[in-house]
Amino acid sequence: MSTTAKSRPTPRAGILDIAPYVPGKSKASGGDKVYKLSSNESPLGASEAAKAALASVAGSLELYPDGSSAALREAIGDVTGINPDRIICGAGSDEILSLIANTYLAPGDEAIYSEFGFLVYPIAIRAAGARPVVAPERNLTADVDAILSLVTERTKVVFLANPNNPTGTYLPFDEVRRLHAGLPGHVVLVLDAAYAEYVRRNDYESGLELVANSSNVIMTRTFSKIHGLANLRLGWCFGPAEMIDAMNRIRGPFNVSGPAMAAGIAAIRDRDFVERAIAHNDTWLPWVTGELEQLGLKVTPSVGNFVLVHFPDVDGKRAKDADAYLSGRGFILRAVANYGLPGALRLTIGTEEANRKVVAAIADFMRQ
Ligand SMILES: *Cc1c(COP(=O)(O)O)cnc(C)c1O
Repeated sequence: MSTTAKSRPTPRAGILDIAPYVPGKSKASGGDKVYKLSSNESPLGASEAAKAALASVAGSLELYPDGSSAALREAIGDVTGINPDRIICGAGSDEILSLIANTYLAPGDEAIYSEFGFLVYPIAIRAAGARPVVAPERNLTADVDAILSLVTERTKVVFLANPNNPTGTYLPFDEVRRLHAGLPGHVVLVLDAAYAEYVRRNDYESGLELVANSSNVIMTRTFSKIHGLANLRLGWCFGPAEMIDAMNRIRGPFNVSGPAMAAGIAAIRDRDFVERAIAHNDTWLPWVTGELEQLGLKVTPSVGNFVLVHFPDVDGKRAKDADAYLSGRGFILRAVANYGLPGALRLTIGTEEANRKVVAAIADFMRQ
């Protein structure tokens, strides 16, 4: 045995080029009470029905769950009108995004996402051995022409978050249709509709109809945002039968836990809770936006449950100064420098108390 040439396992080429995903902070540096407004979590918590369903599974934790998530897919089908055979459930939509990448991408392939798009995409793309290609945006919004101009023979997947996180902007569905029409049939178009329920715009669609009528579009959804189940890790996708079949072949056999399924079934059937969550956002998204604008801050118009707030490029008033000041007062916001937005912070719409207090704290910061 040689002692000089010690061998050790080496990750596949490209793995160490992946920048690890950095989640939003969950601790503040000060403040009597902590307001976590950094991860777009629900200010209403989860539905009581979902909590009760979760508790009801506690007596059978030794049993494997149904590996096909059949009851959950039925419930999603009931509520959305989608054929349950064309749904896959996963441990968060993050798992679904990886499943898509691992099914359709190989070394040498390319996948496109937009400049300020969700940072899970480049991770999933690189993990599959493929090359991420970044399409520039306009006004912090995905640009269909820029995406189409980057399509080559090697392009296999396009990831589009609509609405997008962290910008809160969206593409009207005519633009999504134009994007789809411009893509060769072999390219998978992923519509990540994590925030679809919050959008109140007549020209927005999540993509149900486009998926139903095409062979290369897949829509992903999550229970982490409007349903308030981020801690359980639950998401799903709706796609063409052939894509669902291919992805099911590499899916972990028991990828969704029984407790997550039980809570998810109750959550998606609790329409009152969802309506209340939408109404809360409808009240507080414009209020927070308006109050911050009155402080002289630029806020990117958002259709989600969060806003991107741009701070002045002035000593002591920059985003990083605001982040430190707010953290010291118990408010956790999301720094987005890793998204290429060092001048901004992302703020989740919280409870009434959180919204009023964080706006007051930002006002104090701007005045100090
Ligand atoms: C929060 C979010 C998701 C959801 O991720 P989960 O893994 O389902 O918790 C997906 N896409 C975007 C753009 C998000 O912001």
